[in-house]
Amino acid sequence: LAQLSLSRGSAGWGRGRQGTMAGFNVRSVLVTGANRGIGLGLAKQFLGKSNPPEWVFATCRDPEGAQAQELKTLASRHPNLMIVALEVTDPASIKAAAARVEEHLKGSGLNLLINNAAILRLNTLESETPEDMSLVYATNVTGPLLVSQAFLPLLKKAAQGSPQPGLSCSKAAIVNMSSVGGSITNPFAWQLGQVISYRCSKAALNMLTKCQSLGYGGDGILSIAVHPGWVQTDMGSSASHQVPLTVDMSVRGILNVLPTLSEKDNGAFVDWEGKVLPW
Ligand code: NDP
Repeated sequence: LAQLSLSRGSAGWGRGRQGTMAGFNVRSVLVTGANRGIGLGLAKQFLGKSNPPEWVFATCRDPEGAQAQELKTLASRHPNLMIVALEVTDPASIKAAAARVEEHLKGSGLNLLINNAAILRLNTLESETPEDMSLVYATNVTGPLLVSQAFLPLLKKAAQGSPQPGLSCSKAAIVNMSSVGGSITNPFAWQLGQVISYRCSKAALNMLTKCQSLGYGGDGILSIAVHPGWVQTDMGSSASHQVPLTVDMSVRGILNVLPTLSEKDNGAFVDWEGKVLPW
């Protein structure tokens, strides 16, 4: 922890990242797992911007279920919010979601894809199971891979249609919500929770982000892995420790960092304050 806070001053804001949320012009954004936690917070804060996107696609597994109630209330107040069914472990559901979004965009592209949905299982080295290893990998790694593949044509369209040079989150970007728990150099909070499948999945997601940056940079698409901090959500509070950040604080930080990212950040791993994290 001390190491984390010591290095904070030398990068991130200290390195000159200036939040420019007001000047952050995203025409369309899609967030997976947007019915609760950080995903819901992202949808809310995008909608609350002084220059909100024309379209916020908030995806969740079951738009008709009780878990989507808050999202539905939000949609009733914001005509630019569209709720889309998307189960990230189901390729057919992903394809159907991409088709619905494409229909709504009426020929324009998708600027920002935020792969936020994920699961965590509180297993240890002793208790970890093949079933949880597979399910967590399918959700946290294969999910973002397949979702990115399905939305790639729309991201490319956004990049091609943009007059902006270089790479940016307002042009075309894939943001993979990662975790410092997946850092090999600094595997955060080992004493508090081993969460083997989760750590392995986020290390793999970081590698996927790097691969996407190599594969899609030439298409004008920025790829970035973002650690949202330790946040008071169902997942963040699942090990019942005191959790420092509210959803609001984390999301405000993320939305200040995204507009500062450019081609030099392509394939990087950064946190909610803009600090570059070790893999
Ligand atoms: P929550 O557990 O609060 O919310 C997870 C979201 O993902 C829910 O909307 C959930 O939907 C959705 N989801 C889970 N599985 C699937 C699936 N198979 N298909 C579609 N949606 C799914 O998590 P957080 O908001 O805390 O986490 C958001 C992201 O931030 C995750 O990637 C997480 O790993 C990362 N993160 C969070 C930290 C924290 O402290 N909270 C720390 C570091 C990283 P449903 O309601 O249907 O289950």
